Amino acid sequence: MEKEKILIAENIVRTYSSGGQKVNAIKGINLTVMKGEIVIIVGRSGSGKTTFLNVLGGLLTPDSGNVLIRGKSLYKLSEKERAAIRNKEYGFVFQNFNLINELSVLNNIRLPYDIASKYYDIELERKVLKMLGLEKRVKFYPEQLSGGEKQRVAIARSLLMNPKIILADEPTGNLDPDTAWDIMQLLDEINRRGTTVIMATHAKSFVNILRKRVVTLSDGRIIGDVQKGRYGYIV
Ligand code: ADP
Ligand code: MG
Repeated sequence: MEKEKILIAENIVRTYSSGGQKVNAIKGINLTVMKGEIVIIVGRSGSGKTTFLNVLGGLLTPDSGNVLIRGKSLYKLSEKERAAIRNKEYGFVFQNFNLINELSVLNNIRLPYDIASKYYDIELERKVLKMLGLEKRVKFYPEQLSGGEKQRVAIARSLLMNPKIILADEPTGNLDPDTAWDIMQLLDEINRRGTTVIMATHAKSFVNILRKRVVTLSDGRIIGDVQKGRYGYIV
């Protein structure tokens, strides 16, 4: 059976205007991601990684071009339909964790269910908490957690919605190197279990070690797209 093209970005262009200045953040990007792939997006600060991920995730409308997620054209839908697809298909993981400080770990990871008025999936919850080593942290509040634990909570929250794709924007950007490595391994493990992962990162040393497809952005364009073996090349 032919592998599914889970996500296709076609000719994406995105500019920002601020203070009368125009910034061409994305200058025509095409990318096809297959189901089950793990794609690492690298590139120096300002190269367009965050903008591109946000466009891929239905969070930022491009000036032109389109994103197809499992055959559906994201930016031809209404905002409401797009939000529904975001909730159903994507999990988001950010550099600053995006946890709610007033909620316990358990209530943080259940928040998407509360917002969607869905019944909790207790079995999946237990499995995910165990996999992430968070069973003993469910009653803690974010301020009582280390950075690595906060990121694991954020990952748990995204996994509970059973996303088809995880989009992670510099998920290790605020972590010390050892913890960052743990989170990288975790995302790799999640990918091995079947979830497509697209991650922007600065952490080039890790990219060298894990088997990956590495897409390099420079000044709003793709300048490299290579598939690495288990031990990779030097980026
Ligand atoms: P990266 O994530 O690789 O650092 P970004 O996508 O954040 O890159 O930014 C790409 C370019 O777009 C940069 O030049 C940045 O300054 C600019 N940019 C990003 N967000 C905005 C914004 N909200 N308003 C104006 N310019 C922006
Ligand atoms: Mg960024």
